[in-house]
Amino acid sequence: MLIKCEEGINDENYARLIQEVEKHGLKVDKLSRLEGISIWLGVRGDCTKLSTQEFSKLPGVEDVQRVSSKFKLSGRQYHQVSTVVEVGGVKIGEGHPTVFMAGPCAVESEEQIMRIAKEVKDQGAVILRGGAWKPRTYPGHFEGLKEEGLVYLAKAKRETGLPIITEVMSSREVELIGRYTDIFQVGARNMQNYDLLDELGKASKPVLLKRGTDADIDVFLGAADRIIDGGNKNVLLCLRGITTFDRSQRYTADLYAIPDLKRKSHLPIIFDPSHAAGRRDYVPSLARMAIAGGVDGLIIETHYCPSEALCDGAQMILPKDLGELVQFARNIEKEVRRIK
Ligand code: PEP
Ligand code: MN
Repeated sequence: MLIKCEEGINDENYARLIQEVEKHGLKVDKLSRLEGISIWLGVRGDCTKLSTQEFSKLPGVEDVQRVSSKFKLSGRQYHQVSTVVEVGGVKIGEGHPTVFMAGPCAVESEEQIMRIAKEVKDQGAVILRGGAWKPRTYPGHFEGLKEEGLVYLAKAKRETGLPIITEVMSSREVELIGRYTDIFQVGARNMQNYDLLDELGKASKPVLLKRGTDADIDVFLGAADRIIDGGNKNVLLCLRGITTFDRSQRYTADLYAIPDLKRKSHLPIIFDPSHAAGRRDYVPSLARMAIAGGVDGLIIETHYCPSEALCDGAQMILPKDLGELVQFARNIEKEVRRIK
């Protein structure tokens, strides 16, 4: 339910209105709206049994509207103004240049991450990616260096100044990983790990939430709501390909979801062409489509020698290919999106 307050509502009436809403065990947020100067309140919880009249007759209330959306916190029906997430001086969101996050799938050694960090920075990446905990489909494969990997990421950050993003797979590691990372990455497999999402809701650092391979947009935004409901508003929505009937690709790039999410949500949108394609030669083309489609950022697996990599070598691009994509984005921003 949306409540529009009368312009200039006084403190007493405002407090009474909040009290009335909370009396029903509902939560209420002050919303960021595009038009006018009136205060709008968003009511969350089960409003089905409430009559709008109960609130519209209160002093200081101008209008009460029912809202059908299930994802009230990540959705635009309540929060119209686009969210800009800031991490280490990098702004991610509407009106800002496309952000490039790049690095290997996994951190494999100090030398490897230091060299990649420097090379991706030289090519225009502003955030360094690298998994220290790796979710592997089959046991017995390299599962990451764990805390040792975090230490190397922190060193790479110190030397290059690049903020880092790394995956957290379980609520048990939120505290430890939070001591090192600038952005928590939630992998596609964990999009509905509600225990993890609840823990990240309490964290102070941004979360990049990857869309589950079989999650529809409602369920994806529901997972984002879950994090925001815990108190963490800095969520990035990441598209990384979904499962369809067509198994000739690793996944089907869900590019249609870019305009769909832009309409439905105020959160920044990131695209991951690497895990969608599963092969290096398709990555630049998918990345260009996403850039032209207006994503706020990309996360791209990049390595100076992909054939050496212990995981996902087939989809990693070279630093110079990354540089070409950054240049493409700068051109699109100037000509199409008019970002200076
Ligand atoms: C990754 O980014 O390395 C990864 C495992 O991605 P996803 O969760 O999208 O499979
Ligand atoms: Mn990977």
